Amino acid sequence: MPNAKCRMPNRELQIANLKFEIRHLALGIVLIRHLAFGIRHCYNIPMQQGPLLAPWRIDYLRSLDKPAGDTCFLCQAGATANDAQREAALVVWSTPQSIVVMNRYPYCNGHLLIAPRAHKAELQELTDAEHLDLARQTVNAARLLSTAVSAQGFNIGINIGRVAGAGLPGHVHQHVVPRWGGDTNFFHVIGETRVVPQAISQLYRELRQLAMEMKFEI
Ligand SMILES: [Zn+2]
Repeated sequence: MPNAKCRMPNRELQIANLKFEIRHLALGIVLIRHLAFGIRHCYNIPMQQGPLLAPWRIDYLRSLDKPAGDTCFLCQAGATANDAQREAALVVWSTPQSIVVMNRYPYCNGHLLIAPRAHKAELQELTDAEHLDLARQTVNAARLLSTAVSAQGFNIGINIGRVAGAGLPGHVHQHVVPRWGGDTNFFHVIGETRVVPQAISQLYRELRQLAMEMKFEI
């Protein structure tokens, strides 16, 4: 006959078993997540395909509400005449047809903008020479970022019109955004800090120096 002292009522026994199984299930989930995290980092696999977050861009988004008539920052960049002015406007280099500037409100470190010097809103307004130089400087920008920040890939594109996301719809410009494996995971985390403006000024000097060494027109 079983010892009555050691017997648990059926209901208590079931609850105890259930708690035991839940604890092991939770432990299993944690282990699987850690294993997946490790494999993704080892093989450089992005964690998930989500939006690239850049919370500091809220300053830029708020600036969109400024009244029309403010001076175009790309035209201001094109009008810079010395190194101090270029640094203030974040002009990395320029050619007779184009200007290349760092985005003051970047999606990530190294985000460059390439624009024709002329204030033109639409691609069809560009001359053949401006189209050609825009393409050439886009290639140069990718070369520069491959070396300077070891970019592993790029998002390159142009937003035409406010509805397409153009922050400065009056002056067409090409975005060159460097990407790295897994950058969607940690950038939005470290991007929460306000270190970005300092990083931009530091990276600016590195990019400008490298652009001079690579003999892009300055
Ligand atoms: Zn302009």
